[in-house]
Amino acid sequence: MKNAVLITIGDEILSGNTLDSNSNYIAAQLKDVGITVKQIFTISDEIEIIKNTLTSAFEIGDLVITTGGLGPTRDDKTKKALAEFFNDEIALDEATFEHLKAYMEKRGRIEILERNREQAFVPTKSTVFQNHYGTAPCMMMKYGNKLSFSLPGVPYEVKPLIKDQIIPYLQEKFKLEFIQSRIVSVVGIPESILADKIENWELSLPENMQLSYLPIGNRVKLRITANGINEQVLNIQLEDEIQKLFPIIGENIIATYQDKIEVILGEILSEKKLTISTAESCTGGELAKMLTSNPGSSQYFYGGIVAYATEKKTKILNVSEGTIERFTVVSEEVAREMAEGCQNLFSTDISISSTGVAGPGKGEDGKDVGTVYYTIRVNNHSQTFKLFLPHLERQDFIYFVSQKILQDLV
Ligand code: ATP
Ligand code: MG
Repeated sequence: MKNAVLITIGDEILSGNTLDSNSNYIAAQLKDVGITVKQIFTISDEIEIIKNTLTSAFEIGDLVITTGGLGPTRDDKTKKALAEFFNDEIALDEATFEHLKAYMEKRGRIEILERNREQAFVPTKSTVFQNHYGTAPCMMMKYGNKLSFSLPGVPYEVKPLIKDQIIPYLQEKFKLEFIQSRIVSVVGIPESILADKIENWELSLPENMQLSYLPIGNRVKLRITANGINEQVLNIQLEDEIQKLFPIIGENIIATYQDKIEVILGEILSEKKLTISTAESCTGGELAKMLTSNPGSSQYFYGGIVAYATEKKTKILNVSEGTIERFTVVSEEVAREMAEGCQNLFSTDISISSTGVAGPGKGEDGKDVGTVYYTIRVNNHSQTFKLFLPHLERQDFIYFVSQKILQDLV
């Protein structure tokens, strides 16, 4: 069991209405157990196309996973295609029907519609993996010594089926090796210098470990990956190697478990018992969103203001009108006053602010698209930075700026 092929089924993906996130998730999960995805097909809900694609997929993969098209509606055709491809019949599966009834009763739907009952019909040769988050079961079929799994399309149903049922099943059956990785976040050293510093360490890594460099903003993420039979042993091995990094670059390491900057920041704020608030303009609430995405953030995140209109910057954050007149709203001075106003408003140890032009048009005061000023204020000390990112689209701009601000704060 080495190679996999994924088939994403659904007209809504081909029409551009839905972005295929299932393949992305499944590929990442398979990679963790050493299965490589060789090809991903995206196809429409048509029986002939589904059958033809299954033929192509089994030529390449030992494992084929399809998602989508299992719903009770007429436009969902996957089950029929499966039955035809595997020369099988579709019949009611009692265990699946019982599971379905229990699932619907738990949700207060006592009367089972005929449509729903149809969902308990599966190819007779299939092995069913029950879906605990929806009504369409997952069906496994054998194709010689190869396997296919057909899952529904809804991402929150796909994830637990893959993670809690299919991956453990494959691991058990094929004695797959585990792959574990850890991310070490390093700041304050450019990638090339870092590579020089840790060269000897890298060369002495055990054979089952690989290192990769992932620079983002002013941070370099070192990803150390290890493969082996025993998950626990791998974790101990990884931890040992990471500990050896500390005498070399210890003061530049900001995290060895967490990857997301908001999580790393959260740990630091909790540990140091510091509180934070946000005053945002061009990031539109992204900073507050990132900070609150962390469980336990109520300990340190007191709140945020999105003061988009100039008038709200003066009224709510107490930015002086004179400052805006003199320096314009996208300026170092306004960023600083926003952070000060915010800190006073929320009484936090730290406040951060952003003001800029996310585009696509020029700012009201003629500032170029992509110009941003942000302030990081800790106690009574403010530091303001400027960024110029004219090449980024609006959403990417907001994301990049927010990442950068939190990284600088860390
Ligand atoms: P259901 O039983 O819920 O009807 P289904 O197997 O019929 O499931 P679909 O009807 O194809 O699944 O899709 C259900 C929902 O999941 C749709 O909102 C669709 O946009 C979304 N979806 C389907 N495939 C994907 C995918 N590959 N990535 C992300 N979302 C998807
Ligand atoms: Mg569908």
